[in-house]
Amino acid sequence: MSTSVEKMNYSSALERRFLCPGSAAIEAKYPYDDTQSPAAAEGTMLHECTCNVLNGLPMQPEELDPLTEDQIRDVQWCVDEMQEYADDPENTMITEYKLDLTEQDRLNKPRLDVGFINPSGKITIFELKFGFMYVKHPRWNWQCKDYACGAWLTFGGSEVEVVVLQPRALSEDQWRRGYTFCTEELQALDVEIRGVVEKACSPDAPIVPGNDQCYYCRAKEECPARKSVIETIPRHLTVKDSLESMEPIDRYRLLEKVISAQGWLKDYKKAIDGYMLDGGEVPGWTLGESKKKSKWRDDFETIAALREKAIEKGKDPDKLLQPQKPLGLTDTKKILGGGVAMKSLYNSLRETPAGEVMPVRVKGFIDAGN
Ligand code: SF4
Repeated sequence: MSTSVEKMNYSSALERRFLCPGSAAIEAKYPYDDTQSPAAAEGTMLHECTCNVLNGLPMQPEELDPLTEDQIRDVQWCVDEMQEYADDPENTMITEYKLDLTEQDRLNKPRLDVGFINPSGKITIFELKFGFMYVKHPRWNWQCKDYACGAWLTFGGSEVEVVVLQPRALSEDQWRRGYTFCTEELQALDVEIRGVVEKACSPDAPIVPGNDQCYYCRAKEECPARKSVIETIPRHLTVKDSLESMEPIDRYRLLEKVISAQGWLKDYKKAIDGYMLDGGEVPGWTLGESKKKSKWRDDFETIAALREKAIEKGKDPDKLLQPQKPLGLTDTKKILGGGVAMKSLYNSLRETPAGEVMPVRVKGFIDAGN
C-alpha cells in the first residue's frame, strides 16, 4: 500500500528529502517494511528500558529475556547522563513523546526519545542511539534539527538543546554530543524544513542520486535515476588527466556519481548472488566456500585493547581508528609493531570464521560466444 507523499517527510528521512527531493514520491510507492533487523530491535528495546528507569519503573519489562551486562551498562550510562535533568524539580520530563505538528502543516509526528522542559524557556532533548555507526553531530543532523524545531513549535521557549547519547560509538568523543539552537536558529530551521518538505511534495521534485541519500532509500533497488548514474560517468580510465580541466564542483559531482554507482553495483551483485544461493544457475559460476580470512573478533573489544597498548607504548591511540572500525592488522602492526608479545595480543583479538558459501568462478570456463 502506498503512503501519501506528505507523510513521507518524517524526521529520519529529511536529509534524504533535502539531498534528493524526488525521493519522497518514489519511496511513497513502496510499502514500509516494518520487520526490524536484530540490531534495530535491540535498539528499540534498550530505548524502552532507558525510559523505564527514568520513569521509576524496573529497567527490564518482565516478558523480555534478561538483559546482558553490556546492555545494562549502556542503558545505565544513558540514564546517568540524563539524571541531573531528571532530578531538577523544575523540569517536566517527557519520554517517547510524539509531537503533533498538524497545525504547522506537517503530517508526520516526530517522536522524541526523552525531553526536559524547563520554565526558563530551555528545552533539552536527548536522542538515544545504541548502534556503532557514525551519527552526524546534532548541529548538522536533520533528524535532530527536526526534533529541535518541532519541540520549539510545540512547547515554545527560547532555546533547544539536542544531545545525542551513543554509548557504543567507537570513539569516546562521540558518546555524548550536544548543540543548543537559539531562537534565531530555530526560526531559520522552521523555514528551512518547510522548504525541504514543500520541495519534496512538489510534482517536479528533482531526483538526485548520491551515496548518502540512496543508502537507506526504500526505492534504491528500482530507482531509474540511481541505475542510470552509471551511464553518466565518463567511460575512460584516463579521466585523471581530465580532472584539472573540470570545474571543481564537477569533480565533486563526478565523485558522488562514482560512489553512488559503486553502491548500486554492489547491490546488483548481491541480487545475483542471492539468485544463485536460491538454486539459480549462472554458467561459469558455482557455489563454493569463500577464502577463510582472519579478522578482528569484536571491533569494540579490539579498539579498547589496542588503544590501551598504544598509550602504554607512547603512541597516538587515535591513529588506530578508521572512521568506524579498527585499522586492519597490517596497518596496526605499522603503528604498534610486531614481536612475540604483540603477536600474542593480536591473536587473542582475532578469529578465523568458517568460510561462507558463496558464488565462485569455475576454473577454466570459457564463454564460447564471446
Ligand atoms: S534511490 Fe537515490 S536517487 Fe533514487 S529516489 Fe532514492 S535517494 Fe533518490
